Amino acid sequence: MPNITIKKVKAILTAPVGINLIVVKVETSVPGLYGLGCATFAYLEKAVKCVVEDYFDPLLHGRDAANIEDIWQLMNNNSYWRNGPVINNAISGVDMALWDIKGKLANMPLYDLLGGKSRSAAAVYRHADGKTLEEIAENVQKFRDQGVQHIRIQWGGYGGKSENIHRPDAVPQGIYYDPKLYIRNTIKLFEYIRNKTGYDVELLHDTHERISPIDAVVLAKELEPFRLFFLEDILSPEQGDWFRMIRSQCSTPIANGELYNNPKEWDFLITNRLIDFIRVHISQIGGITAARKLAIFCEQFGIRTAWHGPGDVSPVGHAANIHLDLVCRNFGIQEWSGIRDASLEVFPGSPELRNGYVYANDKPGLGIDINEELAARYPCKTEPTGWTQTRIPDGALYTP
Ligand code: MG
Repeated sequence: MPNITIKKVKAILTAPVGINLIVVKVETSVPGLYGLGCATFAYLEKAVKCVVEDYFDPLLHGRDAANIEDIWQLMNNNSYWRNGPVINNAISGVDMALWDIKGKLANMPLYDLLGGKSRSAAAVYRHADGKTLEEIAENVQKFRDQGVQHIRIQWGGYGGKSENIHRPDAVPQGIYYDPKLYIRNTIKLFEYIRNKTGYDVELLHDTHERISPIDAVVLAKELEPFRLFFLEDILSPEQGDWFRMIRSQCSTPIANGELYNNPKEWDFLITNRLIDFIRVHISQIGGITAARKLAIFCEQFGIRTAWHGPGDVSPVGHAANIHLDLVCRNFGIQEWSGIRDASLEVFPGSPELRNGYVYANDKPGLGIDINEELAARYPCKTEPTGWTQTRIPDGALYTP
């Protein structure tokens, strides 16, 4: 096959539902042949655009679009320092786009190119939240009525309800929560929902790293009787060594990793079997090439995948998640926040949820496109991020 070269690499910024999304488009020497990739770092969108357009475009111009692995290594090493979130997202945008191009050339959906389907569709978990226990139970039932069999339950969002926090004078502004109250309420929540539902539905919970390491041990033990599908992000990447403590004291299944961007944050957790599910944000680790290697690494140790799938992943990134889910032998579960109407119009070909399962379409590559004219009608907002300014009762900042 004659060489098909990279002609242009650009970043498209759009916010169809108010969340900044970054999609990379790689154009080739063949007119009309291009690929799309997710580079969504919603809170530093302009920094990613700068790396893509001011550094990667000139670096990649004229290179053979077929050589994905070589181009991945080139992008990873070119600026000497590596494994940061901005560069990893920029790498992911190009990487996914090159896989998309390869699929289009082969006339195969990505799942075929990567070895074919291990399953028909990806089972998902949805998010049930609420201000009261009754409201959460109603939301759980709504999802069950829609055929969803895995449901994440939270009482009052990450870190729990924020009323009645005992604070000193003159505390700074921020998103306040009380870690001890949160732990007590989360145990109450599981008692209440299990009493209502019994054990024929899978329940999950996301701690979002909002408790101290020793409290993480306590919570994992206290939740053990409720047979969670998994307990998510109970420790921050900086505190990974504490997983040994949790593991030695209870059998609550552990999922971790949506903040990871350096392989050193996960390799010892996998080889020592300290977690049960890896749940990275695949653009944050460098795209499909990196995620496929990570999934195969996890497979050797009996660890399953649960790729991050919230609103701050673009539909292109969701499509990449689903193609990997279909292929990987050790798929566990897929987080699914839903793709809302405006995003569906901007991104034709998005994956579809039916009866608790998400399906990729069978078009070549990622099977998804972008309507650039429509995307331009939803500009991104660049402003200081508020929700990450989380504080505990005495006013100190804590990981969000
Ligand atoms: Mg999470």
